[in-house]
Amino acid sequence: MKKSFILVCCVIFLLVIITGNGYADYEAQRRRLVKNHIENEGIDDRLVLDSMLSVPREKFVPQDQKRQAYLNVPLPIGYGQTISQPYIVAIMTQLLNVNEDDVVLEIGTGSGYQAAVLAEIVKEVYTVEIIEPLGIAAKTRLKRLGYENVEVHIGDGYFGWKEHSPYDAIMVTAAADHIPPPLIRQLKNGGRMCIPVGPPYFPQVLKLLEKNEKGEVRIWDVLPVRFVPLTRAVDWKDKAWE
Ligand code: SAH
Repeated sequence: MKKSFILVCCVIFLLVIITGNGYADYEAQRRRLVKNHIENEGIDDRLVLDSMLSVPREKFVPQDQKRQAYLNVPLPIGYGQTISQPYIVAIMTQLLNVNEDDVVLEIGTGSGYQAAVLAEIVKEVYTVEIIEPLGIAAKTRLKRLGYENVEVHIGDGYFGWKEHSPYDAIMVTAAADHIPPPLIRQLKNGGRMCIPVGPPYFPQVLKLLEKNEKGEVRIWDVLPVRFVPLTRAVDWKDKAWE
């Protein structure tokens, strides 16, 4: 009797370990992350803070990364790609200055996390991903989590998504060596774009672009960042990811 009790306890313990800390209190971890690494670091847009408090980041990372979901770091999501650092997601969202009437284009769907953070705030999010399995997984995940106002398209986001343009705001979550002109064209007058610019993995600068009501463009440097590169229409299947 005693032996079988110990055995049952061991099995339960092992199951908890294997299933990746299934009983972790993610909500408490999320609140701590938002307070310590986002609000205390200067993000003060209530819409952004509330959105970051709502979106379950642990559901956007692979099973073996769930324990790290509420560290303020980027995490691998497969195919050599990463889900961005939460602080960077927050500051980019705040920079766009969006609200409930806005239609936003995101380039680089990845896990779908940034799209979900935007979708909590705006009317509609259109997002483009070049790696087909990542795009399909993100689409399924977003639907399962109830994000009805996000549409995922598989393709080269350098060219944007003309069909639904012009956009109130555009966010690019992969680094390009220049700001793609098609994206500038697809931005509304009075709209904002946020994009990391620079060589792959080397010092890159997060840029904020504003198009005024006359269609004139101004660009500011915001902060140094490190994003995965915006790849072009190369065949990603040829790349040797483990
Ligand atoms: N926003 C994502 C993280 C972005 S990682 C999230 O919240 O998880 C950058 C993503 O951009 C990767 O998934 C990468 O495959 C994608 N990407 C790179 N080049 C692209 C391009 N030309 N068009 C669309 N997506 C691209």
